[in-house]
Amino acid sequence: MSNLWFLNGIRKGIVTEKFPKTPPEDPPAWPSMLSGAGDARCPVDAIDGNGWNMDKCIFCRRCTPAYSPTGNQDIFTVESEAPIFHRSLYIYPLDSGSCGGCNVELMNIFAPHYDANRLGLFITNSPRHADAILVMGVFTEGMEDPLRLAYEAMPDPKIVIALGSCAISGGIIGDPALDISKYNVRIAGCPPSPYTIIKALIAAKGV
Ligand code: SF4
Ligand code: SF4
Repeated sequence: MSNLWFLNGIRKGIVTEKFPKTPPEDPPAWPSMLSGAGDARCPVDAIDGNGWNMDKCIFCRRCTPAYSPTGNQDIFTVESEAPIFHRSLYIYPLDSGSCGGCNVELMNIFAPHYDANRLGLFITNSPRHADAILVMGVFTEGMEDPLRLAYEAMPDPKIVIALGSCAISGGIIGDPALDISKYNVRIAGCPPSPYTIIKALIAAKGV
């Protein structure tokens, strides 16, 4: 059996793409930066007089054709005062109340196609070993204490990352997992694309 796995690997060759050294091989149109103008009928007020708000958008597509995706995957924010880690970033994921979509995309970046480990990004199952806590989903009472305790258990310096519109703004489901001012990094999307997650985490790590 082990020989079969080995031969299969030889047959397929290297499947990992070179992103972010090269542009994404297959960037999805949704979610990506939206551009457009006019009436949007947005259910979460992500479009107002100030334009499109990536933190609020749930990428429901209701605003098309007035607004359309540009394919630009850079829909994330890293606060300028956030600590920089340089060599590696160990991430402790915490599901505060998600649908599972953000969890799947986070796991995707560690699959052979993206292989985020080669970029110094790692998952840890203990907050005591984590540089970053990554929150997915809306606020739920039951996860309030686990979230606080996990954050307190992390060594300094540490950062808080919001993955997906639920964690950032509550999306269309409820309230955000944390107040937006508590996040050092916000990664937009519902769920965010692997390309967006990778670029945001690299930016959070620092170069
Ligand atoms: S995709 Fe949906 S949530 Fe986003 S701006 Fe358009 S209508 Fe609003
Ligand atoms: S942001 Fe979207 S994919 Fe992520 S937990 Fe919320 S509903 Fe699910």
